[in-house]
Amino acid sequence: MQKIALIGSTGSIGKQVLEIVRRYPAEFSVTALVAGSDEAALAAQKAEFRPRIAYCASRGEMPEDLFDDCDTALIAAAGFSGLGYTLAAARAGKKIALANKESLVCGGALVIAAAQDGGAQIVPVDSEHSAIFQALSFDRAASFERLVLTASGGPFFGMEQGSLAAVTAADALNHPTWHMGSKITIDSATLLNKGYEVIEAHWLYNAAFDRIDAVVHPESIVHSLVYFSDGAALAQLGYPDMRVPIQLALTYPRRLPCAPQLDLVKLGALHFYPLPREKFPCFDLALSAGRAGGTAPTVLNGAAETAVKAFLEGSITFPQIAETIEDALNKISFTAADCYETLREADLLTRRAATAFIYGK
Ligand code: MG
Repeated sequence: MQKIALIGSTGSIGKQVLEIVRRYPAEFSVTALVAGSDEAALAAQKAEFRPRIAYCASRGEMPEDLFDDCDTALIAAAGFSGLGYTLAAARAGKKIALANKESLVCGGALVIAAAQDGGAQIVPVDSEHSAIFQALSFDRAASFERLVLTASGGPFFGMEQGSLAAVTAADALNHPTWHMGSKITIDSATLLNKGYEVIEAHWLYNAAFDRIDAVVHPESIVHSLVYFSDGAALAQLGYPDMRVPIQLALTYPRRLPCAPQLDLVKLGALHFYPLPREKFPCFDLALSAGRAGGTAPTVLNGAAETAVKAFLEGSITFPQIAETIEDALNKISFTAADCYETLREADLLTRRAATAFIYGK
Protein backbone atom coordinates (compact mmCIF):
# COMPACT_ATOMS: atom_id res chain seq x y z
CA MET A 1 0.00 0.00 0.00
CA GLN A 2 1.54 3.30 -1.13
CA LYS A 3 0.75 6.21 1.20
CA ILE A 4 0.31 9.52 -0.60
CA ALA A 5 0.47 13.09 0.67
CA LEU A 6 -1.38 15.04 -2.03
CA ILE A 7 -0.61 18.74 -2.31
CA GLY A 8 -3.08 20.60 -4.52
CA SER A 9 -5.90 18.10 -4.05
CA THR A 10 -8.75 20.23 -5.40
CA GLY A 11 -7.05 21.23 -8.67
CA SER A 12 -7.20 19.45 -12.03
CA ILE A 13 -4.24 17.12 -11.34
CA GLY A 14 -5.23 16.54 -7.70
CA LYS A 15 -8.70 15.36 -8.68
CA GLN A 16 -7.22 12.93 -11.20
CA VAL A 17 -4.86 11.57 -8.53
CA LEU A 18 -7.84 10.86 -6.29
CA GLU A 19 -9.65 9.21 -9.21
CA ILE A 20 -6.70 6.78 -9.46
CA VAL A 21 -6.75 6.18 -5.67
CA ARG A 22 -10.49 5.49 -5.92
CA ARG A 23 -9.92 3.03 -8.76
CA TYR A 24 -7.14 1.11 -6.97
CA PRO A 25 -8.04 1.15 -3.25
CA ALA A 26 -5.74 -1.80 -2.50
CA GLU A 27 -2.74 0.06 -4.00
CA PHE A 28 -3.02 3.54 -2.50
CA SER A 29 -4.08 5.42 0.62
CA VAL A 30 -4.01 9.13 1.37
CA THR A 31 -2.21 10.48 4.45
CA ALA A 32 -2.58 14.19 3.73
CA LEU A 33 -4.67 16.45 1.53
CA VAL A 34 -3.68 20.06 0.96
CA ALA A 35 -5.94 22.40 -1.00
CA GLY A 36 -5.30 25.99 -2.05
CA SER A 37 -8.46 27.71 -0.84
CA ASP A 38 -11.47 25.50 -1.68
CA GLU A 39 -12.58 24.52 1.85
CA ALA A 40 -15.82 22.89 0.68
CA ALA A 41 -14.15 20.59 -1.87
CA LEU A 42 -11.46 19.73 0.69
CA ALA A 43 -14.11 18.78 3.28
CA ALA A 44 -15.74 16.38 0.80
CA GLN A 45 -12.36 14.82 -0.04
CA LYS A 46 -11.53 14.51 3.66
CA ALA A 47 -14.78 12.63 4.33
CA GLU A 48 -14.11 10.21 1.47
CA PHE A 49 -10.35 9.54 1.83
CA ARG A 50 -9.92 10.02 5.63
CA PRO A 51 -6.37 11.45 5.61
CA ARG A 52 -4.56 12.23 8.88
CA ILE A 53 -4.14 15.84 7.70
CA ALA A 54 -6.57 17.92 5.62
CA TYR A 55 -5.43 21.49 5.39
CA CYS A 56 -6.18 24.59 3.33
CA ALA A 57 -3.08 26.58 2.37
CA SER A 58 -5.05 29.83 2.72
CA ARG A 59 -5.11 29.19 6.52
CA GLY A 60 -1.36 29.83 6.84
CA GLU A 61 1.91 27.95 7.26
CA MET A 62 2.06 24.27 6.24
CA PRO A 63 1.88 21.70 9.09
CA GLU A 64 5.38 20.56 10.10
CA ASP A 65 4.44 16.88 10.09
CA LEU A 66 2.83 17.03 6.62
CA PHE A 67 5.14 14.42 5.08
CA ASP A 68 5.94 12.35 8.21
CA ASP A 69 3.99 9.22 7.33
CA CYS A 70 3.77 9.23 3.53
CA ASP A 71 5.76 7.24 0.97
CA THR A 72 5.05 9.63 -1.87
CA ALA A 73 4.54 13.39 -1.93
CA LEU A 74 2.51 14.25 -5.00
CA ILE A 75 3.05 17.97 -5.52
CA ALA A 76 0.31 19.41 -7.71
CA ALA A 77 0.00 22.83 -6.05
CA ALA A 78 -0.33 25.78 -8.42
CA GLY A 79 2.52 28.16 -9.23
CA PHE A 80 5.35 29.35 -7.02
CA SER A 81 3.47 28.11 -3.94
CA GLY A 82 4.48 24.53 -4.86
CA LEU A 83 8.16 25.15 -4.25
CA GLY A 84 7.99 25.23 -0.43
CA TYR A 85 6.20 21.86 -0.39
CA THR A 86 8.66 20.29 -2.84
CA LEU A 87 11.63 21.44 -0.75
CA ALA A 88 10.02 20.09 2.46
CA ALA A 89 9.32 16.71 0.80
CA ALA A 90 12.89 16.62 -0.58
CA ARG A 91 14.36 17.27 2.87
CA ALA A 92 12.10 14.55 4.29
CA GLY A 93 13.61 12.08 1.77
CA LYS A 94 10.31 11.14 0.13
CA LYS A 95 9.52 10.00 -3.38
CA ILE A 96 8.30 13.21 -5.00
CA ALA A 97 5.82 12.82 -7.86
CA LEU A 98 6.27 16.30 -9.24
CA ALA A 99 3.44 17.95 -11.15
CA ASN A 100 4.29 21.51 -10.06
CA LYS A 101 6.56 22.90 -12.79
CA GLU A 102 7.47 26.04 -10.88
CA SER A 103 9.38 23.97 -8.28
CA LEU A 104 12.04 23.20 -10.88
CA VAL A 105 11.60 26.35 -12.99
CA CYS A 106 12.15 28.69 -10.00
CA GLY A 107 14.02 26.48 -7.57
CA GLY A 108 15.69 23.80 -9.71
CA ALA A 109 19.14 24.07 -8.13
CA LEU A 110 17.71 24.10 -4.58
CA VAL A 111 15.31 21.22 -5.23
CA ILE A 112 17.94 18.97 -6.84
CA ALA A 113 20.41 19.68 -4.01
CA ALA A 114 17.77 19.13 -1.29
CA ALA A 115 16.71 15.84 -2.91
CA GLN A 116 20.32 14.65 -3.01
CA ASP A 117 20.92 15.64 0.63
CA GLY A 118 17.63 14.21 1.86
CA GLY A 119 17.77 11.04 -0.25
CA ALA A 120 14.55 11.97 -2.05
CA GLN A 121 13.67 10.71 -5.49
CA ILE A 122 12.02 13.01 -8.06
CA VAL A 123 9.60 11.45 -10.53
CA PRO A 124 8.09 13.61 -13.28
CA VAL A 125 4.32 13.86 -13.72
CA ASP A 126 4.36 16.38 -16.59
CA SER A 127 3.49 14.32 -19.70
CA GLU A 128 6.55 15.36 -21.73
CA HIS A 129 8.98 14.59 -18.92
CA SER A 130 7.19 11.34 -18.15
CA ALA A 131 7.63 10.38 -21.82
CA ILE A 132 11.36 11.07 -21.54
CA PHE A 133 11.53 9.14 -18.24
CA GLN A 134 9.91 6.16 -20.00
CA ALA A 135 12.22 6.43 -23.03
CA LEU A 136 15.19 6.40 -20.62
CA SER A 137 13.87 3.20 -18.95
CA PHE A 138 12.98 5.16 -15.76
CA ASP A 139 16.61 6.24 -15.26
CA ARG A 140 16.97 10.02 -15.04
CA ALA A 141 20.77 9.65 -15.09
CA ALA A 142 20.86 7.60 -18.34
CA SER A 143 22.91 9.08 -21.19
CA PHE A 144 21.38 10.50 -24.38
CA GLU A 145 22.21 12.98 -27.13
CA ARG A 146 19.19 15.25 -27.29
CA LEU A 147 15.69 15.72 -25.90
CA VAL A 148 12.81 16.87 -28.08
CA LEU A 149 9.70 18.12 -26.31
CA THR A 150 6.46 18.17 -28.25
CA ALA A 151 4.00 21.07 -27.99
CA SER A 152 0.39 21.09 -29.14
CA GLY A 153 0.92 24.69 -30.25
CA GLY A 154 -2.17 25.75 -28.30
CA PRO A 155 -5.33 27.29 -29.78
CA PHE A 156 -3.53 30.13 -31.63
CA PHE A 157 -0.77 28.21 -33.42
CA GLY A 158 -2.16 28.91 -36.91
CA MET A 159 -3.32 32.47 -36.19
CA GLU A 160 -1.74 35.59 -37.74
CA GLN A 161 0.40 37.54 -35.27
CA GLY A 162 -1.68 40.68 -35.85
CA SER A 163 -4.85 38.93 -34.68
CA LEU A 164 -3.47 37.91 -31.28
CA ALA A 165 -4.28 41.27 -29.60
CA ALA A 166 -7.99 40.55 -30.08
CA VAL A 167 -8.14 37.05 -28.56
CA THR A 168 -10.08 36.68 -25.30
CA ALA A 169 -9.48 34.60 -22.20
CA ALA A 170 -12.31 32.30 -23.32
CA ASP A 171 -10.52 31.74 -26.68
CA ALA A 172 -7.26 30.98 -24.89
CA LEU A 173 -8.93 28.58 -22.43
CA ASN A 174 -10.26 26.51 -25.33
CA HIS A 175 -7.22 24.20 -25.62
CA PRO A 176 -7.35 21.87 -28.65
CA THR A 177 -6.11 18.65 -26.99
CA TRP A 178 -5.47 18.86 -23.23
CA HIS A 179 -7.98 19.72 -20.48
CA MET A 180 -6.09 21.44 -17.66
CA GLY A 181 -6.27 24.25 -15.11
CA SER A 182 -6.65 27.85 -16.35
CA LYS A 183 -3.08 29.09 -15.66
CA ILE A 184 -1.38 26.25 -17.53
CA THR A 185 -3.91 26.47 -20.37
CA ILE A 186 -3.02 30.14 -20.91
CA ASP A 187 0.68 29.24 -20.60
CA SER A 188 0.14 26.66 -23.35
CA ALA A 189 -1.41 29.33 -25.59
CA THR A 190 1.57 31.70 -25.07
CA LEU A 191 4.09 28.80 -25.31
CA LEU A 192 5.46 29.94 -21.94
CA ASN A 193 4.55 26.44 -20.76
CA LYS A 194 6.92 24.90 -23.30
CA GLY A 195 9.69 27.23 -22.14
CA TYR A 196 9.01 26.09 -18.57
CA GLU A 197 9.21 22.49 -19.71
CA VAL A 198 12.64 23.07 -21.29
CA ILE A 199 13.84 24.39 -17.91
CA GLU A 200 12.23 21.42 -16.14
CA ALA A 201 13.98 19.00 -18.53
CA HIS A 202 17.27 20.81 -17.96
CA TRP A 203 17.07 20.04 -14.22
CA LEU A 204 15.43 16.63 -14.35
CA TYR A 205 17.79 15.15 -16.94
CA ASN A 206 20.90 17.27 -16.27
CA ALA A 207 20.75 18.42 -19.91
CA ALA A 208 22.40 21.59 -21.24
CA PHE A 209 19.88 23.99 -22.80
CA ASP A 210 21.34 23.52 -26.29
CA ARG A 211 20.53 19.80 -26.09
CA ILE A 212 16.80 20.42 -25.59
CA ASP A 213 14.51 21.27 -28.52
CA ALA A 214 10.76 21.70 -28.89
CA VAL A 215 8.53 21.02 -31.91
CA VAL A 216 4.86 21.64 -32.50
CA HIS A 217 2.82 18.46 -32.78
CA PRO A 218 -0.87 19.46 -32.94
CA GLU A 219 -2.30 15.98 -32.29
CA SER A 220 -0.50 15.61 -28.90
CA ILE A 221 0.01 11.87 -29.46
CA VAL A 222 3.83 11.74 -29.34
CA HIS A 223 4.54 13.06 -25.84
CA SER A 224 8.28 13.70 -26.36
CA LEU A 225 11.39 12.00 -27.75
CA VAL A 226 14.91 11.09 -26.70
CA TYR A 227 17.65 10.94 -29.35
CA PHE A 228 20.64 8.66 -28.81
CA SER A 229 24.18 8.73 -30.24
CA ASP A 230 23.51 5.95 -32.77
CA GLY A 231 20.72 7.89 -34.45
CA ALA A 232 17.91 6.06 -32.69
CA ALA A 233 15.07 8.11 -31.22
CA LEU A 234 12.64 6.72 -28.64
CA ALA A 235 9.25 8.26 -28.07
CA GLN A 236 6.21 7.53 -25.91
CA LEU A 237 2.83 7.71 -27.61
CA GLY A 238 -0.71 7.80 -26.32
CA TYR A 239 -3.88 9.86 -26.35
CA PRO A 240 -3.53 13.11 -24.39
CA ASP A 241 -4.70 11.93 -20.95
CA MET A 242 -2.93 13.13 -17.79
CA ARG A 243 -4.09 10.08 -15.85
CA VAL A 244 -1.40 8.02 -17.62
CA PRO A 245 1.68 9.99 -16.46
CA ILE A 246 0.10 10.60 -13.01
CA GLN A 247 -0.56 6.90 -12.44
CA LEU A 248 2.83 5.86 -13.82
CA ALA A 249 4.62 8.28 -11.48
CA LEU A 250 2.97 6.36 -8.62
CA THR A 251 3.37 2.79 -9.89
CA TYR A 252 6.49 2.70 -12.12
CA PRO A 253 8.10 0.45 -13.22
CA ARG A 254 4.77 -1.37 -12.94
CA ARG A 255 1.92 -0.44 -15.27
CA LEU A 256 -1.75 -0.83 -14.38
CA PRO A 257 -4.76 -0.42 -16.71
CA CYS A 258 -5.53 3.28 -17.09
CA ALA A 259 -6.55 4.72 -20.47
CA PRO A 260 -7.78 3.59 -23.92
CA GLN A 261 -5.23 2.05 -26.31
CA LEU A 262 -4.03 4.10 -29.27
CA ASP A 263 -5.67 3.42 -32.66
CA LEU A 264 -3.01 4.45 -35.19
CA VAL A 265 -5.07 3.62 -38.29
CA LYS A 266 -7.92 5.78 -37.04
CA LEU A 267 -5.45 8.64 -36.40
CA GLY A 268 -4.03 8.22 -39.91
CA ALA A 269 -1.30 10.87 -39.71
CA LEU A 270 0.79 12.79 -37.18
CA HIS A 271 2.20 16.25 -37.93
CA PHE A 272 5.24 18.17 -36.72
CA TYR A 273 6.18 21.84 -37.27
CA PRO A 274 8.87 24.23 -36.06
CA LEU A 275 7.96 26.22 -32.96
CA PRO A 276 6.73 29.74 -34.02
CA ARG A 277 9.10 31.51 -31.64
CA GLU A 278 8.67 35.01 -33.08
CA LYS A 279 4.89 34.92 -32.81
CA PHE A 280 5.04 33.62 -29.21
CA PRO A 281 7.95 35.44 -27.49
CA CYS A 282 7.24 33.87 -24.06
CA PHE A 283 9.13 30.73 -25.11
CA ASP A 284 12.41 32.59 -25.66
CA LEU A 285 11.85 34.78 -22.60
CA ALA A 286 11.63 31.58 -20.53
CA LEU A 287 14.77 30.15 -22.12
CA SER A 288 16.78 33.32 -21.54
CA ALA A 289 15.70 33.34 -17.87
CA GLY A 290 16.53 29.64 -17.57
CA ARG A 291 19.98 30.20 -19.03
CA ALA A 292 20.58 33.25 -16.78
CA GLY A 293 19.73 31.13 -13.71
CA GLY A 294 19.71 32.47 -10.14
CA THR A 295 16.54 34.42 -9.42
CA ALA A 296 15.83 35.10 -13.14
CA PRO A 297 13.32 32.24 -13.61
CA THR A 298 11.52 33.34 -10.41
CA VAL A 299 11.21 36.84 -11.87
CA LEU A 300 9.92 35.31 -15.11
CA ASN A 301 7.37 33.27 -13.19
CA GLY A 302 6.24 36.01 -10.80
CA ALA A 303 5.58 38.31 -13.77
CA ALA A 304 3.82 35.52 -15.68
CA GLU A 305 1.52 34.58 -12.78
CA THR A 306 0.60 38.26 -12.35
CA ALA A 307 0.10 38.82 -16.09
CA VAL A 308 -2.00 35.69 -16.67
CA LYS A 309 -4.29 36.64 -13.78
CA ALA A 310 -4.71 40.10 -15.33
CA PHE A 311 -5.40 38.57 -18.76
CA LEU A 312 -8.03 36.20 -17.30
CA GLU A 313 -9.70 39.22 -15.66
CA GLY A 314 -9.69 41.07 -18.99
CA SER A 315 -7.27 43.76 -17.75
CA ILE A 316 -4.59 43.17 -20.43
CA THR A 317 -4.43 41.73 -23.97
CA PHE A 318 -2.81 38.43 -24.90
CA PRO A 319 0.42 40.03 -26.29
CA GLN A 320 0.72 42.10 -23.09
CA ILE A 321 1.40 38.90 -21.13
CA ALA A 322 4.79 38.67 -22.87
CA GLU A 323 5.32 42.43 -22.54
CA THR A 324 4.76 42.24 -18.77
CA ILE A 325 7.26 39.39 -18.45
CA GLU A 326 9.84 41.13 -20.63
CA ASP A 327 9.53 44.35 -18.63
CA ALA A 328 10.11 42.50 -15.35
CA LEU A 329 13.13 40.61 -16.74
CA ASN A 330 14.61 43.91 -17.98
CA LYS A 331 13.93 45.96 -14.85
CA ILE A 332 14.68 43.57 -12.00
CA SER A 333 18.27 42.59 -11.33
CA PHE A 334 18.96 38.91 -10.68
CA THR A 335 20.92 37.44 -7.81
CA ALA A 336 22.14 33.94 -6.93
CA ALA A 337 19.36 31.56 -5.82
CA ASP A 338 21.07 30.68 -2.56
CA CYS A 339 17.99 29.79 -0.51
CA TYR A 340 14.21 29.63 -0.57
CA GLU A 341 13.84 33.00 1.18
CA THR A 342 15.81 34.71 -1.60
CA LEU A 343 13.43 33.28 -4.19
CA ARG A 344 10.40 34.18 -2.08
CA GLU A 345 11.59 37.80 -1.90
CA ALA A 346 12.29 37.90 -5.66
CA ASP A 347 8.80 36.51 -6.27
CA LEU A 348 7.11 39.18 -4.10
CA LEU A 349 9.22 42.00 -5.57
CA THR A 350 8.38 40.87 -9.10
CA ARG A 351 4.64 40.63 -8.41
CA ARG A 352 4.67 44.20 -7.13
CA ALA A 353 6.63 45.43 -10.17
CA ALA A 354 4.42 43.52 -12.63
CA THR A 355 1.26 44.80 -10.94
CA ALA A 356 2.57 48.37 -11.26
CA PHE A 357 3.43 47.76 -14.93
CA ILE A 358 -0.05 46.39 -15.68
CA TYR A 359 -2.27 48.72 -13.68
CA GLY A 360 -0.02 51.78 -13.56
CA LYS A 361 -0.32 52.31 -17.31
MG1 MG B 1 3.41 19.27 -20.24
